[in-house]
Amino acid sequence: MLEQEIGAWDSVLLEPLTEDTFVSNLHLRFKRDHIYTYIGNVLLSVNPYKKLALYSADLAETYFKKGPFQLPPHIYAVAASAYRWLNDRNEDQCIIITGESGAGKTEAARIILQFLVLVSSLTPEVKQLKDRLVQANTLLESFGNAKTIKNDNASRFGKFLDIEFDYKGDPIGGHLMQYLLDKSRITNLASGDRNFHIFYQLLSGADIHLLKGLKLQRNVEHYSILYTVTRQCTQSEEEDRNLYVYTRSAFDVLGFSVEEVVNIFRVIAVVLKLGNLEFVPCNNIDGTEGCSINNDYELYDICELLGAEHRWLQRALTSRQIDDGMSTDLSSCEATKTRDTLCRTIYGRFFTWLISKINELIKARHHAKRKLFGVIDLYGFECFENNGFEQLMINYCNERLQQVITLVSLKEEQEEIVKEGLEWTRIEFFNNFGICQLLEHENHGILSLLDEPHVHCDQTYLTRLEQCCAGHSHCLAGDPSLPPYSFQIRHFAGPVTYNARTFLEKNRDYLPRELSRAMYRCDHPLMQALFPEGNPKRCTVKKPTSTSTQLQVALNALLKSLSYRQPHYIRCLKPNELKQPRIFELALVQHQVRYLCLIATVQIWRQGYCYRLPYPQFLCRYKMLCINTWPRWRGSPIEGVSILLRSVPIPNAEFTFGRTKLFVRSPRTVFELEDFRKAR
Ligand code: ADP
Ligand code: MG
Repeated sequence: MLEQEIGAWDSVLLEPLTEDTFVSNLHLRFKRDHIYTYIGNVLLSVNPYKKLALYSADLAETYFKKGPFQLPPHIYAVAASAYRWLNDRNEDQCIIITGESGAGKTEAARIILQFLVLVSSLTPEVKQLKDRLVQANTLLESFGNAKTIKNDNASRFGKFLDIEFDYKGDPIGGHLMQYLLDKSRITNLASGDRNFHIFYQLLSGADIHLLKGLKLQRNVEHYSILYTVTRQCTQSEEEDRNLYVYTRSAFDVLGFSVEEVVNIFRVIAVVLKLGNLEFVPCNNIDGTEGCSINNDYELYDICELLGAEHRWLQRALTSRQIDDGMSTDLSSCEATKTRDTLCRTIYGRFFTWLISKINELIKARHHAKRKLFGVIDLYGFECFENNGFEQLMINYCNERLQQVITLVSLKEEQEEIVKEGLEWTRIEFFNNFGICQLLEHENHGILSLLDEPHVHCDQTYLTRLEQCCAGHSHCLAGDPSLPPYSFQIRHFAGPVTYNARTFLEKNRDYLPRELSRAMYRCDHPLMQALFPEGNPKRCTVKKPTSTSTQLQVALNALLKSLSYRQPHYIRCLKPNELKQPRIFELALVQHQVRYLCLIATVQIWRQGYCYRLPYPQFLCRYKMLCINTWPRWRGSPIEGVSILLRSVPIPNAEFTFGRTKLFVRSPRTVFELEDFRKAR
């Protein structure tokens, strides 16, 4: 096909380069089902919302053999180039996938994993691990994804999968990190959303004996945590039934025993039934208000599923210990809140347990020298009609990730080129450092204020926020134009108004001691692992770390580990809000192109270089390409490199000599050099 008809495969080649030509190019390619486009070595992917014949074993093989940039843009090319770096240069790799909810991040991560499975060897041991890695994904999706208005299969947690490879390039193990499961949806479903897939799968798919054993009914409407007033978001029962079969077989492949699986389903059943408990007010003999459980039979079922004593659990749900030995009754409203906390805590901790269990099953068996191939799929930027604590956490993750991308791909690039004495026109781009500071400044960052000791309710939090942040150019607080209890942050991706109600509670994530004790006493084999603080013998009660602090620590660790790796970027774009194929909403795409600084990225790439290596290293790696430098060059490294380059059939314009490093313009050249090297 002619270039005109399919557009430019690399936006760096666009002439003239404007936002309009950039977006039109994506549009033209999208219409032709060319969803992938490069900006240098960054891959853009526009969600087609339909199955395309773009993925197969043959094609994976082709991309693997040919090397990238000789074939049309493809996610396989990114995976192949990371895989080559890993094997040829012995460097840890990382593919960072970003984009809004529904833009195609999780799908991209899946395709990369599939690529690695297709191109590595097939010894029985490797095959078993590969199957497990793929099935781990299936389980994560069943337990951690849900249908939302934005995405039918929205990941409700951030995921970092690391695959370990041996020196032969075969996977030998894996490790999963999970970031902040959105457990609030367990008890607070937004209208039009569904809860985590597994609930529906279990109810539709489990056979009648299992359901009976779990004391469940097939009917979804029977469970209040699955029910929202406007249930527009439905999925056919048949689909859920089929997915249940996949989930079951994923457990088998990963090596879970039947007993373990039943115990897991018991936990799911307990969460469903707890959500149904109803509390009614009653007056105690002494005139104080208390409450009792209206449908006690549900609690009996729960106790049977957990191996718990009824009176323990009942007491933990309806009263609160104030001093040793003294307790006070909860009102029906308080008890309902306690119930919800317990539901969310059980599910959240169970999910963390599930990940660690999966990690045990996929971890490397032997300690050979290994290299890491990481794939990061964190949640995308979120802005809804109502934004709460979860959105703040998610958007904070996105700010930090965006910052790394800006720093690495834009700022450092410019700075290094200037440092190396090369000619350069400075390009302006938006740096979100100020917003990150606004969020995490040690003393008065929006997140740090949550942990201040004298901030004890949402109102004092808001007041502090107004005191500390109202003047910040990216923050609006205490402004009459805002709804009550709200503040606004101007994120890199757009302004978001947050409602601060329940922020403190969610951040502290506190579980009353009675509940952890009651759960710890259960016979169910998971409960002691899930509620270790309930152990009466554990006397040191450490102040639990708050949610936002946990997330900051985890993110810092993640970003630090990234800094030691060769990064590759995939930026996913969403073509429309309707989840429909063939619709390309110009304004929506334009907005994403703007906040992702894609035009600046192209400009920098146009001036820039894809690859650089200090002269001694370059010489060492490629000296065999030239008889004058092989085997031992005695002059200065820079001179050696210049002699070496004269003997390879690559145009001079591809190379620029910096102070300490050689700069190579296009990726194609790097791979050509590598091919020459292999041919020797
Ligand atoms: P995100 O993780 O960014 O929220 P997903 O990866 O879950 O988004 O994608 C949302 C939906 O879009 C998927 O369930 C799938 O139907 C569709 N989709 C995404 N990427 C592709 C692709 N490359 N080809 C076909 N469909 C896709
Ligand atoms: Mg996702």
